[in-house]
Amino acid sequence: MILGGDPVRYAELIRPDSVRVWRDRGVRERLSWYYRVMRNSAPAKFIIAKRIPTDIDPTDKELGLGELLRVHSRLKEEFNRVWRDVRESPKPWKEIPSAKPKHAFLDIKAAIAYRLASPCQLCERKCGVKRDSGEVGACRVRGLKACVDTYFHHVGEEAPLVPSGTIFYTGCNFRCVYCQNWSISQPATPVGEEGCLDAKELATIQEWLRVSGARNVNHVGGDPTPNLPVIVDSLRYLEMNVPQLWNSNMYLSELSMEVLEDLIDIWLPDIKYGNDECAVKYSGVPNYVEVIKRNVARAVKHGDMIVRHLVLPNHVRCCTEPVIKWLAKAAPSAVLNIMDQYHPDYLVRSHPEKWGELARHVSGDEMSEAFRIARECGYGGPVGDLWYIPP
Ligand code: SF4
Repeated sequence: MILGGDPVRYAELIRPDSVRVWRDRGVRERLSWYYRVMRNSAPAKFIIAKRIPTDIDPTDKELGLGELLRVHSRLKEEFNRVWRDVRESPKPWKEIPSAKPKHAFLDIKAAIAYRLASPCQLCERKCGVKRDSGEVGACRVRGLKACVDTYFHHVGEEAPLVPSGTIFYTGCNFRCVYCQNWSISQPATPVGEEGCLDAKELATIQEWLRVSGARNVNHVGGDPTPNLPVIVDSLRYLEMNVPQLWNSNMYLSELSMEVLEDLIDIWLPDIKYGNDECAVKYSGVPNYVEVIKRNVARAVKHGDMIVRHLVLPNHVRCCTEPVIKWLAKAAPSAVLNIMDQYHPDYLVRSHPEKWGELARHVSGDEMSEAFRIARECGYGGPVGDLWYIPP
């Protein structure tokens, strides 16, 4: 097992607040699991998943999805027991077996994730296309390799995450008309296969990010969900302790969540809308509220969480208010970043006459109102950008 470099020392130079933030007891408590893994005092969850043995050979082509899921559910009980012991132990590394088994819980997860891609049900769009045969769904991601646009140490993320070893995957299952990252998320033609990375190559990138100072590996896009199988598979080859961060719109299917929840140490959901009408109108996704609530409520039980909410102009009442109110009740342990960075981009910028209500920056009054709602719901702070309900 290789442990990473000294990420805290590196961060001191780039973003002093990335060190200062840990002096806040509330932030430390809210992000305690992530903090321990980041400092190498506890193993990341994917490392635990590698040490849970199984007699089942996941490469057996005869195994159907149903049988794999049954095995997975049995192994999950053992995983949860070990993870609990690791969290409660003063010597977390002693709680996991030092030897790697021939087949493990993580291998079963990878086998399931690939099956979920053909026919594709990785996200709630459930396009049903056969990704292993080159068919393309709504995300425009072809094949099963990792479509990586770029990767680097991101110093613009929330203070506890910086420097963040960010991997930007191409393609997205959303069609946000104001997308701030549209050159990556909305390719004009399908992406995939040519120039894309296999699981071993993706693991090598993660190792490089960690050894050169990243506090975490930050899977983002676009959205990482269309690349979920190769991401899970890459963890089989990753021999370095590093927190796994899922930076996503959280529109995953329940089965994708079933696979992923045991592998992610810190979640970074981007919750956009407080109602389905806005979700359909601006991102082209149905059933948004139910799916996002389901997944966020599930994820927060399986790791630390920083929720991002980008305040949209003219959407404080219909989106910001219900999002914050719901979060305070359903995920009170999550840290909240209420973001003011919205600017008209992508289709809103090219067709402002069509998207007039979004064709401006957020006003100071709108941000003040968003902060007032947060305070009313019990959130304190902020510490930098971060709000939390005191433990
Ligand atoms: S990941 Fe892509 S192909 Fe698969 S269901 Fe979602 S949008 Fe469709």
